[in-house]
Amino acid sequence: KVGEYMLHLDKSQAAFREAKTLMPGGVNSPVRSYKNVDCDPPFIDHAKGSKIYDIDGNEYIDYVGSWGPMVVGHAHPQVVIALQKAVEKGTSYGAPTVLESDLAKLVMSVYPSIEKIRMVNSGTEATMSALRVARGYTGRDKIVKFIGCYHGHGDSLLVKAGSGAATFGVPDSPGVTKGTAQDTITVPYNDSAAVTKVLEEQGDEIAAVIVEPVAGNMGLVLPKQGYLRTLRELTQKHGIVLIFDEVMCGFRASLGGAQAAYGIVPDMTCLGKIIGGGLPVAAYGGKREIMDMVAPEGPVYQAGTLSGNPLAMTAGIVTLSLLTADPEDGQPDYSRVLTLKTKKLLLSMQASAKEAGVKIQAHQAGSMFGIFFNDKDVYDYETSAASDQEAFKVYFKSMLEQGIYIAPSQFETLFMSGAHSDEDIEKTEAAARNAFKAVAQF
Ligand code: PMP
Repeated sequence: KVGEYMLHLDKSQAAFREAKTLMPGGVNSPVRSYKNVDCDPPFIDHAKGSKIYDIDGNEYIDYVGSWGPMVVGHAHPQVVIALQKAVEKGTSYGAPTVLESDLAKLVMSVYPSIEKIRMVNSGTEATMSALRVARGYTGRDKIVKFIGCYHGHGDSLLVKAGSGAATFGVPDSPGVTKGTAQDTITVPYNDSAAVTKVLEEQGDEIAAVIVEPVAGNMGLVLPKQGYLRTLRELTQKHGIVLIFDEVMCGFRASLGGAQAAYGIVPDMTCLGKIIGGGLPVAAYGGKREIMDMVAPEGPVYQAGTLSGNPLAMTAGIVTLSLLTADPEDGQPDYSRVLTLKTKKLLLSMQASAKEAGVKIQAHQAGSMFGIFFNDKDVYDYETSAASDQEAFKVYFKSMLEQGIYIAPSQFETLFMSGAHSDEDIEKTEAAARNAFKAVAQF
């Protein structure tokens, strides 16, 4: 028995049994099934602040944050009140609103590389559409993606993909046609020589290079010094559209995302998660000249019944207003506070792993963090995949039993929110200490 917290999941297990008769794997997104960690997932009843509660009445400190969006915490009072007001005014119009321009302006105020933007409903749509625009703009068919990066489940991008696709061993999904897969060239992440070679050889056929500038879907993997600059220079040289997929690292690697943190200006950017404050929103945008290819301004078609939905825009506007509030006005500097809290937690985890004699690699980018059970450096998919999966399972279960809710895979990233208190973090540190002891004993 690890820790004092033993989980009772009877109701969740019954709910899961039923869900499995209704939905593939009992879920609407694969990693939620916990299949790879050999246990059943808690079914969630509600969430508030830093905590998430299951239907069995268990309380957890949540570092998944709906896989990234919940940066100000669950059910933030300002978000809730704004949504309550918005819902009274109708839930969807399928017509322009001022809200869309308000969210666009907020995003552009911290992402100056985005000169025009289009709102969509998921990260998948954002990357899929950005690729179509890049292809339309360049008149070229091929794209380059990096092994272990995940950009949603669009056909062109489900090739050597990370996240759940890697967790469940289907990085190249059946159902993607050979023709589509052939147009996707994959290259190891952080390998400047490999991408240079591909671009030198096939540069004039390549429409876009798409990258997670801080990679969060093979666990958290940071770009090596100079790597993003190399991508920028190479794509410029070959007339290729450089797409930063900041769906996850946007507003997290820093307020202005990885592009601000590393000082690189991409041609296009995909955002998601945080910009919808927990409602379904994502966006793609970039240079005016490229975005003017999009219908009805230009010929590249992309549309959406619920795109720019007023509830979703409202949640995004409040969330981004909280994040971008000027510290001079007496508001907390959100990003800085989150970065410091994350650093404190990670330092403690490193110390207790060491004390237990467990070798880990701990990575942080702003409010994103993650550990690998690995005694060697992790800088790409191969080195990430070499991490000890069995040790992770022991760690994961121990944390869950102790009321700490983390992603059930080493190929995912964890997130700090503004709602995590010092007490939450101290509890997490204590739980991690126990969990590392459990790993050492197994
Ligand atoms: N890009 C990145 C970098 C992501 O992390 C994700 C999802 N985690 C996506 C795209 C896809 O977003 P969605 O799940 O909203 O389709």
